[in-house]
Amino acid sequence: MQQDFRDSSLFRQQLHIAGGWLDARSGKTLDVEDPATGKVIGKIPNAGAAETRQAIEAAHEAFRSFSRTTAAERAEMLRRLHQLILDNREALARILTMEQGKPLAEARGEVGMSAAYVLWFAEEARRIYGEIIPSPWRDRRLLATRQPVGVVGAITPWNFPSSMLARKIAPALAAGCTIVCKPATQTPYSGLAWGELCLQAGFPAGVVNIVTGSAREIGGELTANPLVRKITFTGSTEVGKVLLGQAAGTVKKVSMELGGNAPFIVFDDADIDRAVEGGINAKFRNTGQTCVCTNRFYVQAGVYDAFVEKLSAATERLRVGAGVDDGVELGPLIDANSVEKVEELLTDAVDKGGRVVTGGQRHALAGNFFEPTVIADASAGMRFSREEIFGPLAPVFRFETEDEAVRLANDTEYGLACYFYTRDLGRAFRVSEALDYGIVGVNEGLVTTEVAPFGGVKESGTGREGSRHGIEDYLEVKYVCMGGL
Ligand code: ADP
Repeated sequence: MQQDFRDSSLFRQQLHIAGGWLDARSGKTLDVEDPATGKVIGKIPNAGAAETRQAIEAAHEAFRSFSRTTAAERAEMLRRLHQLILDNREALARILTMEQGKPLAEARGEVGMSAAYVLWFAEEARRIYGEIIPSPWRDRRLLATRQPVGVVGAITPWNFPSSMLARKIAPALAAGCTIVCKPATQTPYSGLAWGELCLQAGFPAGVVNIVTGSAREIGGELTANPLVRKITFTGSTEVGKVLLGQAAGTVKKVSMELGGNAPFIVFDDADIDRAVEGGINAKFRNTGQTCVCTNRFYVQAGVYDAFVEKLSAATERLRVGAGVDDGVELGPLIDANSVEKVEELLTDAVDKGGRVVTGGQRHALAGNFFEPTVIADASAGMRFSREEIFGPLAPVFRFETEDEAVRLANDTEYGLACYFYTRDLGRAFRVSEALDYGIVGVNEGLVTTEVAPFGGVKESGTGREGSRHGIEDYLEVKYVCMGGL
């Protein structure tokens, strides 16, 4: 029999503030649904500004001593956290699948990714070096040290409810910051589990706080409160701009990981089978609901028909179903609004001459399920050439020359991930340098790893997560001039 995700001690339905578990002051709650069935799986407190302020004050108080721990002490706690995530991988994956809908195999992968980020930053904690600067004065010595920025406010989305928090909590703690997190309302339980895991790992009360409820109120308090020194956000560009505006009031340090409109270019000289395999991964992972998912396939005229045929055949083979069922590759979309948006984009494309090659409608499973769909003859006037799809639609555009492909790929306000396939070495360098994106996959459709910098340019955001750069966002440089020597 399958283990019920509710049995786990990691399944928490309360706010985590100052080391304790609390309800909203109003006593109000919100329901959380399983996107595969629409059934309510639990409740969360509907908290607002007051509870957020309490969490910020707890984090501020905890910062006083936590910021003075040694790097070795923080690394040790992070290593324990890493082990706890691995020990509880199955329970965490089940919680994730129940609230988010992704197949269990993907959920296990995401939890593994969370653990990997924690271990990486456990290691980076010990490499926060400063410098001694050659002094222009005989009687003075100049030092530059790096110190934790202070209390961090983190807001995360529903598509990766576990690993998006890992990318923020782990570097924050490694740097010596304390944190107040607001997970997405649709998927709060993976976030609340972080509270329990961090307690078990030995992080002192108040170092990690988790609040759930009104995004507007919690986000408003996190961005306005002067005790919060940094805002880190992953989500839509629209909300990111709101938060940037709000954070300006107290000039906070910001990291923004926002939307994307990833192009996936296939040149005539590409290995087509490899491009199809990468294309399926880059398009349909998490049912197309990632900010690095392919939004636009651009295929050179000479291989256009062959690529469309092979991509469609591979798309047809994808198994759609509830994430908890064995062998499922595509889960439901997160909610009814997402299904409607996908349907609208599809109708718009068909009205403008798009040709549905496979899929093209809501799935027979009903609810939030949608058929993985390939649309050939996509053209620039269609909405998805500008808008993020966030669903299982694969539009395939045709192009003639390398210059044209680069121009079309860059013709967007976004700049997160992009992909292209070629076997020409010169082209591989030329095109990767010409693409205005933070992340480039060359002959690869899955590129995310904790050891590499993840982040975008243009309206896709600012800052980098993961790699040795990922900790910088949580540090401030302090210059100390020692005089009178
Ligand atoms: P998505 O399109 O992935 O749902 P959103 O940007 O809408 O992305 O949401 C990402 C996160 O931002 C969620 O935790 C959501 O609750 C939160 N959020 C949404 N609106 C606001 C807001 N006005 N202020 C602060 N946070 C918000």
